[in-house]
Amino acid sequence: MAVRRFFASRKRQQNKATWPIDPSTTTPPSGWSGWPDKKRFAFLLSHDVETQIGYDKISDLVDLEESLGFRSVINFIPEGQYRVSENLVQNLKNRGFEVGVHGLHHDGKLYNSQEGFNHRAKKINQYLKIWDATGFRSPLMHHNLDWLHKLNITYDSSTFDTDPFEPQPDGLGTIFPKWIPRPNGEHSPGSGEQKPEARERISDSRPQSSNLDGYVELPYTLPQDSTLYLLLKEQTIDIWKTKIAWLAQHGGMAFLNVHPDYIDFDGKGTRNQYPAPYYANFLKHIKETYTNQYWQATPNGVAQFFVNRKERPQSL
Ligand SMILES: [Zn+2]
Repeated sequence: MAVRRFFASRKRQQNKATWPIDPSTTTPPSGWSGWPDKKRFAFLLSHDVETQIGYDKISDLVDLEESLGFRSVINFIPEGQYRVSENLVQNLKNRGFEVGVHGLHHDGKLYNSQEGFNHRAKKINQYLKIWDATGFRSPLMHHNLDWLHKLNITYDSSTFDTDPFEPQPDGLGTIFPKWIPRPNGEHSPGSGEQKPEARERISDSRPQSSNLDGYVELPYTLPQDSTLYLLLKEQTIDIWKTKIAWLAQHGGMAFLNVHPDYIDFDGKGTRNQYPAPYYANFLKHIKETYTNQYWQATPNGVAQFFVNRKERPQSL
């Protein structure tokens, strides 16, 4: 970690013109006419659950969000170190939270070969179906947007507007959702190898847009908690505040990823955890400073809005 911190502070210096704000990312998508209800910006929350420690803190986390009127997506690793309970998934959904899929394992090897990816994609599609999930995020924010067409998803969120601290640091270059069309001639995962009756079942239980000719990419646009508090050792929420003011000014999508694993809810000052009030205070800041100015939705809600918007150009 000490070595990572040393390189991180150097990277921060080298990238100060484009992180945490990259001024070149503000162009809206073609035909864009704004967020629902004329809100200034969209506000989305996601959580990647990395370990059993994080899994055990989900209820504290969602209670906090619910008490402040927020909802999020909880991204689970299907075959990681914890077992995901069906009851928990159902409970989260009943309360208005969304469930997403975070890789298959968390070993950083998802994209090592196309063959390996395709093999894992079949299993990932099974978990998407079991959890009735529409969204995906890769471990370590690795991304190969062409290969992701093998997944039966409405949206992916493995990219970012700007984040030089990630192992694959190329950003999507926008603070808006982006449509990723399926290359010509490729079949959708629902229409290829599966038998007709299997396809029937899937389309019954999933939102219509899962049969789209592509998917929506939702880049996260606020620095991750792990970057700010574990890697850069920030002691305040000033970077989040500055960035969201800028995102609001440009009418973009404020999308934050926070890991329950790293939040210290007990105030014990545990190593590699940061105080829960950082996160709570940021949510309160948004609620109080931007009252009625933001559209709070889960990522699936944003992706559905983006594909269904009336002004969506035919050529998308
Ligand atoms: Zn992860």
